[in-house]
Amino acid sequence: MSFVVAIDGLAGTGKGTVTKLIAEEMGLVNIDTGAMYRCITLECINRGIYNIEQKEKIIQIARSVEIKIEHIDGNQEIFLDGKNVSKEIRSKEVSAFVSYVSSIPEVREIMVELQRKIAEGKDVIMEGRDITTVVFPNADVKIYLDAEVEERANRRYKENKEKGIEMTYEETLEAIKKRDYNDIHKPVGALKIADGATIVDTTHMTIEEVKEKIKQIILNKK
Ligand code: C5P
Repeated sequence: MSFVVAIDGLAGTGKGTVTKLIAEEMGLVNIDTGAMYRCITLECINRGIYNIEQKEKIIQIARSVEIKIEHIDGNQEIFLDGKNVSKEIRSKEVSAFVSYVSSIPEVREIMVELQRKIAEGKDVIMEGRDITTVVFPNADVKIYLDAEVEERANRRYKENKEKGIEMTYEETLEAIKKRDYNDIHKPVGALKIADGATIVDTTHMTIEEVKEKIKQIILNKK
């Protein structure tokens, strides 16, 4: 029997960092579903598609590309049609367009199917926006991560700076607010607090504290 830990939350709540650490410490397979939507978005941009009006073309891309998540030396590496795009998918352009691409129901259907397939027969920790509600509503552990928007923007601003992505704090805050709005108001797969999910507000917590809290919740369920 496989064991599923599902984590949802908005951008900058600490999902990615904490999931990676817990996966390493607890021997779970880490699956970042946001990276998958980012791959489709990157492919759209590479083909000159920047507009949600070109919905049919975007759906066609989602159907035809091959997305693979591999774990190399403890790091999650994302491959799009055989090419490692782990860095490219974090660009400012991809971040600005991804919540539009992910609002297309057909794109979501394809991604949800792929996510369930990747997790099959494994003990996983999967993070995203609809993991606790749509992908694995019966997950063994369901967590909803929350944090105040200014704090999330501050974390993302610092991360971007480290990665060499040039954005001011104000631009980062605006971009996050726009993405929050889109992620909460999607017709399908909108971010919601699932029935039975434990809410963890990370605003005033360190990554270490969030990690320990979630680990405890997992250990209590095991
Ligand atoms: O998690 P991350 O911020 O990298 O996700 C990028 C975007 O992908 C989100 O803003 C959201 O629009 C989309 N996404 C989604 N469903 C998921 C994971 C991510 O719609 N399960």
